[in-house]
Amino acid sequence: MRFPLDFALTQAKHMVQQRAKGRKRFPTVCMLEPLYTCNLACIGCSTERHTGKLKDRLSVETCLKAVEDSEVPTVAVCGGEPMLYPELPELLNELMRRGKYIILCTNALLLDTKLFGVIPPSKQLFVNVHLDGMRDTHDMVCARPGVFDKAVEMIKESKRRGYLTLTNTTVYKETDMDEVEQLCDLLTSFNVDGILISPGYHYETVKRDVFLTREQIHEKFKRVRELSRRYKLTATPAFLDFAAGLKELLCSPYSTVNFTPKGWKGPCYLIGDKYYADFNEFWNDVDWNYWVTRKDPRCANCKMHSGFEQSAVDEASKSVSGMLRLAAWHVSG
Ligand code: SF4
Repeated sequence: MRFPLDFALTQAKHMVQQRAKGRKRFPTVCMLEPLYTCNLACIGCSTERHTGKLKDRLSVETCLKAVEDSEVPTVAVCGGEPMLYPELPELLNELMRRGKYIILCTNALLLDTKLFGVIPPSKQLFVNVHLDGMRDTHDMVCARPGVFDKAVEMIKESKRRGYLTLTNTTVYKETDMDEVEQLCDLLTSFNVDGILISPGYHYETVKRDVFLTREQIHEKFKRVRELSRRYKLTATPAFLDFAAGLKELLCSPYSTVNFTPKGWKGPCYLIGDKYYADFNEFWNDVDWNYWVTRKDPRCANCKMHSGFEQSAVDEASKSVSGMLRLAAWHVSG
């Protein structure tokens, strides 16, 4: 299966419960960024996410309130680098105690000292390691030699210790798709639990021209679509059809909400036009009807997983054939 059954059932139950409350739109994932401090400065990362001071981090209490307010079943703990968050064990334990599933997004440099031996493996915890290519490419993206070797060592150790282990790869303009296939082969040999491949988003603060146009995304994701037949990719078939330019989808920026040291980021994980201290103010103030249409110029080349995966799932659930395809994909991994 692509994901553990209890995780998939919890997501499905959440959707049923939210719809039963009469909600057409609701969050399913909270991208929780307790800090904007990082031990790397990767070339495709928005500048704010790696230049923050540790003293400006969120308290555990503030993080937990944000998660409860958004009512999500799944929390992607990212940043910054979450391993640098001094209260990480307390945060993870409290989230799991509340029944949340955690996707812990990390560059893996400190996994051995900050996670292994501190928080035991759990069916509620996915370790998600950033890996943008093989050695030369990944070290270039991370602007530091040795990061690839450490990440690979940590992925193997994570699996050996019994953690659910995912990887996350961003595709840039110069990404060689043969290399992405090589990476999928390598990760499959480690028996990772899932591989997410996603197109990069052109943050205004990133000056280097590494990002893809819509047409370039289509071309590269036709290849990713082929790879999904052989490797355990976690993107749904409908999302990959969209990324390959074979279908259109509206955006679902409300499905993946983002809480940061500056507050709730609106309208989406990528665009921070306004930050809000209060969830309800954020939810009621963002003009979702505008953002779902992708009319804004900054949406032109966006095919981000965080914006469109929920749209893909929603679309699949509208027809029997779509649901069968989704179910077949889920059990095929
Ligand atoms: S298309 Fe992309 S940038 Fe625009 S609202 Fe959706 S996720 Fe945000």
